[in-house]
Amino acid sequence: MSNRRVKGLKERISSGEVVITGEGYLMELCRRGYNQNGSFIPTAVLDHPDRVEDFTRELVHAGVDVCSAFLYYANKEKMVKSGRKAEESELLIRRALEIAKKVSIETGTLFTAGLAKTTQYEPDDEEAHKSCEHEYREQMKLCAEYGVDYVAIETLWDYGEAVIALKVAKEFGLEAVITLAPNSIRDPPLTFDDYELSVALQNLLDDGAACVGVNCVRGPKTMIPLIKRLRQEVKGPLACVAIGYKTTEEQPTWYRLRNPDTGEQSFPDDISGHCLSDSEVAWYAEEMKKLDLAYIGFCCGNSASYTRILAMAYGRQPPAAQYASTYVTQEESAHGYKGERYDRKLREFLGRK
Ligand SMILES: [Zn+2]
Repeated sequence: MSNRRVKGLKERISSGEVVITGEGYLMELCRRGYNQNGSFIPTAVLDHPDRVEDFTRELVHAGVDVCSAFLYYANKEKMVKSGRKAEESELLIRRALEIAKKVSIETGTLFTAGLAKTTQYEPDDEEAHKSCEHEYREQMKLCAEYGVDYVAIETLWDYGEAVIALKVAKEFGLEAVITLAPNSIRDPPLTFDDYELSVALQNLLDDGAACVGVNCVRGPKTMIPLIKRLRQEVKGPLACVAIGYKTTEEQPTWYRLRNPDTGEQSFPDDISGHCLSDSEVAWYAEEMKKLDLAYIGFCCGNSASYTRILAMAYGRQPPAAQYASTYVTQEESAHGYKGERYDRKLREFLGRK
């Protein structure tokens, strides 16, 4: 259990405070040239720890309440599948926890670790269940050793695997935020192992999760209708953590996004063409504010500027707020030119008479 002095997760939730999380390490570090896309292994933690620390600090500067250890898919099997050594797994997890802990202590923020699905879960396979449990135990043992304030068990596809993860978290006395990936576009939405999503989330809450919800896969336009529905169906603290990409009614999850010019599937290598604009981020924030949510933020595709928009919409004044643009239109922007020649050229640039 954590023995740090910051206000804990459950205390914040029970006093009605919204916790702002910020992730998206993988996509952002890929974009910056420090991690590989596709395998989704957080190798930047081993190869470029300073850059991981930089991004953690950027997110705090932009307004997150929590520093998250970047260890998504750091489990042994995934590491080996992706050409790394099995023994690098523990080292990576320790490094990731060290980075997030250091920044959280320095900035007075919460400290968590983002734990992925194990990719080994099979509903009717006892051996697979044991293997998942073992993987979670190895990771959560380290999370407990480093004193995380809670674990963020994220992007799980199967309810059954979430049950195992929660059981292990409780063994270590760790509070857990559990979010499932809303892959399903059925009505009602189902988990990968065919539980109704709202039922799965309610069961996890009733079983002791501190907060439950959905993360990843959907951008604001298709996450908001889902979370509105879940808000009606689930009683208790709810989390909403969308991706920073534009999904649409026709292409509701990022797996379905297509490059508008070529028609080719965009996920994962061409996903950057679907990044949200600032006004779309602001819309997401305003829609979430209408709901009683406990835990919000962005997952893959996040950037410090998106986090700043969310934080400011929620009334926060993070250090980055001082650099938020106050110029609303091109005419008001601060190029500094004045006079008839500028006005004439500007009209031409803007396509006005
Ligand atoms: Zn994600």
